[in-house]
Amino acid sequence: MSAEPHLPELGADPSREYRLGIMGGTFDPIHYGHLVTAEQAREALALDLVLFMPAGVPAFKQGAGVTDAEDRYAMTLLATAANPAFDASRFEIDREGVTYTIDTLRALRAHYPDNVRLFFITGADAILDLLTWHDAASMAELATFIAATRPGYDIEQARARVSASNVPFDVRYIEIPALAISSTNIRERVSAGKSARYLTSESVIGYIRKNGLYNSRIVERVDGAASPDRR
Ligand code: ATP
Ligand code: MG
Repeated sequence: MSAEPHLPELGADPSREYRLGIMGGTFDPIHYGHLVTAEQAREALALDLVLFMPAGVPAFKQGAGVTDAEDRYAMTLLATAANPAFDASRFEIDREGVTYTIDTLRALRAHYPDNVRLFFITGADAILDLLTWHDAASMAELATFIAATRPGYDIEQARARVSASNVPFDVRYIEIPALAISSTNIRERVSAGKSARYLTSESVIGYIRKNGLYNSRIVERVDGAASPDRR
């Protein structure tokens, strides 16, 4: 086992298989769509643990004003804390520069013994990016993929494209309770002073407000009184 910081121990008993789920994302912020996806994937595929891994500098979002990695990590930690089968990982945010999923999967594969099987969890939108990902063939060798339904995205289209591709991806499709929640919508709501309650955990909402993320600072009214504490 090579030394890698910030990865949980797994694989101690050589006589059994361990199933590790990896939930990647920008998590800006993490919300109930992510949590339901991970929980249903954990149950459907009997995963021992799901690692939530906020991306360091997502290749596709560079320069687009992604929130500081420490804040995204802190919110991920808060939202996952109560579930013993969930863990938040600093693995990608502590790496410099662009993060490619293939690099993470390679590092995890090198780190864990062979009795730890890797499962990469995505929503129906992200699974389609699989085909265009860097080095898709190696990725298919390293992990089993779990694609969850997501409102607004066609999982059947994803399935058709995956099976038409030359890359032998092992993808498990799961139907999960539909939550039409996105981080983009939460950011927009918060900056417009609208409520984000029940779209993500109270702890995450509290963190957003306390740290003034997404322009959530209470706006002083002209008369000097603070505007109501809208969530
Ligand atoms: P943004 O709007 O900033 O793109 P997002 O809500 O799409 O944010 P990401 O961090 O981009 O969240 O997504 C991480 C992973 O979670 C992706 O695999 C994505 O498909 C999945 N995901 C996000 N929201 C949902 C949801 N509501 N239902 C199912 N899967 C989801
Ligand atoms: Mg997204």
